Amino acid sequence: MTIQDVKTGLVGGQPVPILPDSAPFEPSQRAWLNGFFAGLLSVEAQPGAMPVTGGLPASAQNALTAADTFAPWHDPAMGLDERMTLAEGKPMKRKLFAAMAQQDCGQCGYLCDTYAEALADGTETKQNLCAPGGKETSRMLKKLMEQTPSATVEASVAASHAKITKEPAKIGYARDLPVDATFVSATQITSASSEKDARHVVFDLTQSGVDYVPGDSFGLMPTNDPALVDAILAAMRAPADFPITGGKTFRNSLIEDYALGTAPDMLFELVSYMVGGDRRIKAKALAKGQDPEGDADQFDVLAVLEKFGPIHPDPEAFLECLEPLQPRLYSISSSPLATPGQLHLTVDAVRFSLGGRRRQGVASTFLAGRVAPGAAVKVYVQKAHGFGLPPDPATPIIMVGPGTGIAPFRSFLWHREAQRAQGTAIGKSWLFFGHQREATDFFYRDELEQLAASGSLTTLTTAWSRDGEAKVYVQDRMREQGHELWKWLKAGAHFYICGDAKRMAKDVELALAEIAADHGLMSAAGAKDFIAELKAAGRYQADVY
Ligand code: NAP
Repeated sequence: MTIQDVKTGLVGGQPVPILPDSAPFEPSQRAWLNGFFAGLLSVEAQPGAMPVTGGLPASAQNALTAADTFAPWHDPAMGLDERMTLAEGKPMKRKLFAAMAQQDCGQCGYLCDTYAEALADGTETKQNLCAPGGKETSRMLKKLMEQTPSATVEASVAASHAKITKEPAKIGYARDLPVDATFVSATQITSASSEKDARHVVFDLTQSGVDYVPGDSFGLMPTNDPALVDAILAAMRAPADFPITGGKTFRNSLIEDYALGTAPDMLFELVSYMVGGDRRIKAKALAKGQDPEGDADQFDVLAVLEKFGPIHPDPEAFLECLEPLQPRLYSISSSPLATPGQLHLTVDAVRFSLGGRRRQGVASTFLAGRVAPGAAVKVYVQKAHGFGLPPDPATPIIMVGPGTGIAPFRSFLWHREAQRAQGTAIGKSWLFFGHQREATDFFYRDELEQLAASGSLTTLTTAWSRDGEAKVYVQDRMREQGHELWKWLKAGAHFYICGDAKRMAKDVELALAEIAADHGLMSAAGAKDFIAELKAAGRYQADVY
């Protein structure tokens, strides 16, 4: 087949198969190639083309998804074992890719496949950067890297240094090059009686020198809760002011530089050298990723000291066994057109009980309580890759964002509202929002009503999971409105999803496939291909953690 055989792939915003059915490809490969050629030939001119995000042209964005689509493990809802099975027999960099959490969240500073490639090349040596994959991923990466002879890595490093001229990262746009932004406020937007504590967070960007577009994320460097650090110092009976090489005190190092969540394998190893008997056997098992008593998930750093203590490791040796504190990423929920100079986030303050103790998310509770208004916070903008508004503001959009998954869609809606106010013709928009209870968890209600009144939000559909006898989720509402939803898709709407990666995103995709099958009169396989085509054409975009 030559490129001349290929026709434009979108009619009325719908991907139309380009490759003949007789072409020797698997359905998923055919779907991807159809989308790829559609993107390549019609780029921005077509309503269905991939938006330009992260400074890449649409065709390059499509090219980026090539590796993903032919990587069957690239599914954030799939378990690690299944992913590794799918990558069996593949080159090392593909196995490393399969070990990542598959969210392309950017927290590590790469995409899943480029992080894998950098590890395989030896240009990246840190194996603990995949935040959503956590210990499971870093353990698998370690195991895989141990299988790679060091001579191979050295040869790869030399080869990649020779061929890669890496574009320098820009200040304020990379995790290693943060800038200061001023924290303004974190207002609770769920009711006091809600089971959730969602916050509307505002930063002032005027002095930071960074800007953003809807779809981008915001990275910020939190600090640990001093109360947790003091509990660790007490458990170790270590002096807070113990000087650490580099000039900081032990206490400040623990507050500012080290992750105190999930206990690293190295810490269990250290402990295993300091205790005896059953405790030693258990610490050794935990260090190998085993879970002899079914309580491995309860061990944060303090829990290790409490369970195996009293132990008094040297503070520096102890720190060496911890992971560095990493920045956290949130989807931006404001529009630079609507609120210039400001940046908003929508964050759930994570607090829960585990192992008889109150635990809390580091960054979310930092924002919800520990950072003072007016304080400078180290931040950076993470440019989106394949997530953003369609290039043509007149393109209709369907957004599914339960809980704080509404964040990027608040940004989209306010952006279009600002565009509309400037005289731009904007397309229809449909938001599916869901949460536990309408009375306590319907955040941004007034704003959504205002956007509906102005015409920027055409349809709002809500699903309250804990208001009735049976759970009702956003995907149930999608099914109920399947006929209308199908009409929007046929008219070229882009479909967006944001929120929980493991269950919600998978269930929503399933519902969309059912709608395509029922209302588009397709077989189950045809509906799957249809969604693959939407994804390849950039018309199905996900921002899931
Ligand atoms: P949440 O816990 O995800 O709950 C929101 C609603 O979704 C609830 O009504 C919940 O119902 C329902 N739900 C549960 N399982 C579901 C399923 N399988 N399908 C559809 N709906 C389901 O809300 P949240 O605490 O606000 O968390 C939002 C998620 O978005 C988190 O996973 C977060 O990591 C992710 N996220 C956040 C951002 C951000 O910038 N803040 C950005 C991207 C992604 P029940 O609990 O009653 O079952």
